[in-house]
Amino acid sequence: MAKPGRARGMLVSARADLCQLEGYHSPQIEVAVRLNTNESPYPPPERWRDELLEALSSVQLHRYPDRDATALREAIGDLHGVGPEQIFCANGSNEVIQSLDLAYGGPGRSVALFEPTYAMHRHIAVNTSSAVATGRRQEDFSLDLSEIARVARESQPALTFLCSPNNPTGNADSLAEIQEAAAVVPGLLVVDEAYGQFAPRSALPLVAAGSPLVVLRTFSKTWALAGLRLGYLVGPAEVVKSLERVALPYHLDAVKQVAGKLALSYSAEMQERVSLIAEQRDKLMAALDELPVRYWHSDANFILFRPERVEGHKVWEMLLDRSVLIRDCSSWPGLQGCLRVTVGTPDENSVFLNALEDCIL
Ligand SMILES: *Cc1c(COP(=O)(O)O)cnc(C)c1O
Repeated sequence: MAKPGRARGMLVSARADLCQLEGYHSPQIEVAVRLNTNESPYPPPERWRDELLEALSSVQLHRYPDRDATALREAIGDLHGVGPEQIFCANGSNEVIQSLDLAYGGPGRSVALFEPTYAMHRHIAVNTSSAVATGRRQEDFSLDLSEIARVARESQPALTFLCSPNNPTGNADSLAEIQEAAAVVPGLLVVDEAYGQFAPRSALPLVAAGSPLVVLRTFSKTWALAGLRLGYLVGPAEVVKSLERVALPYHLDAVKQVAGKLALSYSAEMQERVSLIAEQRDKLMAALDELPVRYWHSDANFILFRPERVEGHKVWEMLLDRSVLIRDCSSWPGLQGCLRVTVGTPDENSVFLNALEDCIL
């Protein structure tokens, strides 16, 4: 094993195999129109805020929070028709992913994923010293079952990640394909549904049916609570037990537990936002039809597209000059020249469209 070497002064250098962050994180720049990280363009309901402030006045911050987050897990379980023993919560679904990698991945084990997909699936696997087995999606970004079978056979992954709708391509996988994938992978199939509420279908019924499959959801996108950092997994109770073994004690703070549970009583408002955004997404796709860009049909709250006349990265820069920030995927594997725009408010979308026309026409 490599010894921790000394860098300059008293510093010890970190593990050399840690994932390089360059090129992944979206810059946090001050702009007029921010359409780069797939957040909700609308804040959570005002009434929720008022109720939260009220509820917080009785939270005992000098005490550790409920370690099991029982009330929150029961409320999430109710939402999906399962018991709290089938729910694992964490600080964003990224932390759920990290918990999965810690419990099921790690040295000597491999994690499979299919590119192009959500970069954190690879990133967190690498940081937990899991081997990454990479497969590909098809040209149109749909799943390739023979490719999944190949990776499963060659690498025997303990975890296989799918993302539906897939970030950054926007397409939702079919349930039949997800079911077939669950049948060919040797370990656990993880379906990341961060954008699940925007999609026409969900893999959640497959969990209920007892497949070796877990579904990840987050409050960051549809619930308009990216700042809260709350995500969760729905899966078999034995998986939840394993994840609890790698979670830090009291990892879910008391404020988050209260705020998350309270948010669940605003399902109707959340659904209203989802419908509004889905409607705007469809309008945005129709507008892109008229422009010299190729775009891919989206079942989520963002659209992947590739300008045809001007190079993608150049367009990204030109938009930034116009104070419109979107995601530059142009150098990501399999996405040459592609950009991803988050669906915003009607105003933000028209500023984006006008600026885009300006850049490419
Ligand atoms: C945004 C996103 C997440 C959310 O991560 P949080 O940690 O819950 O904010 C997870 N998976 C995918 C595919 C995403 O795009």
